[in-house]
Amino acid sequence: MKAIVLFGAPGSGKGTVAEKLKVATGYIHISTGDMLREAVKKATSVGLEAEAYMKRGALVPDEVIIKLVEERLDKGSPGDLYMFDGFPRTIPQAELLEKSLGSRGGKVDFVIFLDTPRDVLLQRLTGRRTCRKCGWNCHIINLPPKKAGVCDVCGGELYQRPDDQEATIVNRLEVYNKQTESLIARYQTQKVLVKVNSNQKIENLISEIRQILK
Ligand code: ADP
Ligand code: ZN
Repeated sequence: MKAIVLFGAPGSGKGTVAEKLKVATGYIHISTGDMLREAVKKATSVGLEAEAYMKRGALVPDEVIIKLVEERLDKGSPGDLYMFDGFPRTIPQAELLEKSLGSRGGKVDFVIFLDTPRDVLLQRLTGRRTCRKCGWNCHIINLPPKKAGVCDVCGGELYQRPDDQEATIVNRLEVYNKQTESLIARYQTQKVLVKVNSNQKIENLISEIRQILK
């Protein structure tokens, strides 16, 4: 069981990179944000608990996230290649991941840090639109959909995530700085961190990351 982590602030492009890398490499994409949004949509017990935290841009409690990821890994098989997106975000989550992969004979092989200037993060998040049906992301200026308001992938309706409103975005960036950014030091010590510049053309970014994974 091999694993990489796509790491970076909200708006750093984790989801977009994951979608492209998945097609090119066969890594299985695990996005805790997507899993939570799915749970909210289906109004499961996890969804009902998570919704209020997500709306205000706070982190969902570690116990909830850890259970979600454990359940997902339990369904996997030993040869799986995992690509985590938006997880881990706290030290307890990072510890759980290491333990959980370790018990399955794996480890975190690389942490790809998508380094992005703050003004770019803000610009990307305020213009982001998401498909209600399949979760596809686009941007009204940078990566516009073929048809306004309609998902390129499945034809579903594009909407603005409630946490992509400006006031919540500022809060999410602060949460990242306070609670998540410190993981960089941990992964530097473990010698698995690779920093890439996320403020470049997506094709170039993807080929840079594929080079690292080789
Ligand atoms: P972004 O990285 O753009 O903030 P995500 O889809 O990864 O978007 O996360 C959206 C929200 O879901 C977060 O603001 C948080 O409330 C919740 N969430 C997602 N992943 C985690 C996690 N690993 N730990 C705690 N909360 C999470
Ligand atoms: Zn869609």
